[in-house]
Amino acid sequence: MGYKNFPMVPRVIFGRGSFNQINEVLALKRLSINAPFIFLVDDVFRNNPNITSILSLSYDDRIIYVSAKEEPKTSQVDQLVEDIILKSKQRPSGIIGIGGGTVLDLAKAVAIMLTNEGGAKDYQGWDLVKNPAIYHVGIPTISGTGSEVSRTTVLTGPERKLGINSDYTPFDQVILDSELTKELPRDQWFYTGMDCYIHCIESLTGTYLNTFSETYGNMALDLCKEIFLDGNLTEIEARDKLMMASWHGGMSIAYSQVGIAHAMSYGLSYLLGTKHGIGNCIVFDHLEDYYPEGVKVFKQMKAKHNITLPQGICADLADREFDIMINVALSLDPLWENAIGKNWKKIITREKLRTLYQKM
Ligand code: ZN
Repeated sequence: MGYKNFPMVPRVIFGRGSFNQINEVLALKRLSINAPFIFLVDDVFRNNPNITSILSLSYDDRIIYVSAKEEPKTSQVDQLVEDIILKSKQRPSGIIGIGGGTVLDLAKAVAIMLTNEGGAKDYQGWDLVKNPAIYHVGIPTISGTGSEVSRTTVLTGPERKLGINSDYTPFDQVILDSELTKELPRDQWFYTGMDCYIHCIESLTGTYLNTFSETYGNMALDLCKEIFLDGNLTEIEARDKLMMASWHGGMSIAYSQVGIAHAMSYGLSYLLGTKHGIGNCIVFDHLEDYYPEGVKVFKQMKAKHNITLPQGICADLADREFDIMINVALSLDPLWENAIGKNWKKIITREKLRTLYQKM
């Protein structure tokens, strides 16, 4: 087995107000007047001129508003792809995702599925994508998921919740403009920020750790503590720093892996539709046996920001439903191997997971 040869985002713009450069960036990438740019935009921005008035749509360019209330699904990707193919004269010049992790993941998946046959569910897994995606751009409006740097796009399919992990997944261009992360509800800011914090803890304590991951992870972890614990930053500084924490946290897991909170949170999300950020928080709150220091600091951050997590979301579940969540969680071998080690199957039993889920 050799070392991973993983792709990185080749172009990035960083700066407050840098979103204004979007039209110049895209103009160079237009393939023809019949090949439109398709903008997938979080529908919370539907009536927000700060986003839509900047975009200068020409020819057949089009905005498609997508809801980020639910986690992205393979069926949703397939529908978007079908709609784009039906309404475009030619294959689009590019897909531009403007939103949080859900919208960014949808943009990556749509860009892949425009050049690959079959349905999105056929590509959930590792390195199953055959053809390069079309040009795609990611513009985060919520910081923390690391989707802007990752080589995955996590989708809920008919059988599993799993990413399309491939060399063709990462964005060709990212624009990091912290002005776009204003006006976010406080809870959502916290939950998505904690996704980044949990990436750091799971990477830094994992068996896959190496110096590449460790240095990025430490940078992101320090930033998270500065933002969520120390509280000496202005709001603008905090937004800039969380944007970079998300980036570095994503870089850290790119060369290592996430761990137990993610595996179990995928189970919650698959069965109950729990969103990724809050799902991670609900799980991580109970993982003191596995991440003692990380969970201790997490609880301090939670207290500092007066966050109350939902309780008892698994209280009324049937045996069959616990089984579904446990199956989803246990199917994510690399996450467990990173968290526990090669012999993880001897340590992590179905009963242990059931006991943990029952506390949530
Ligand atoms: Zn995550």
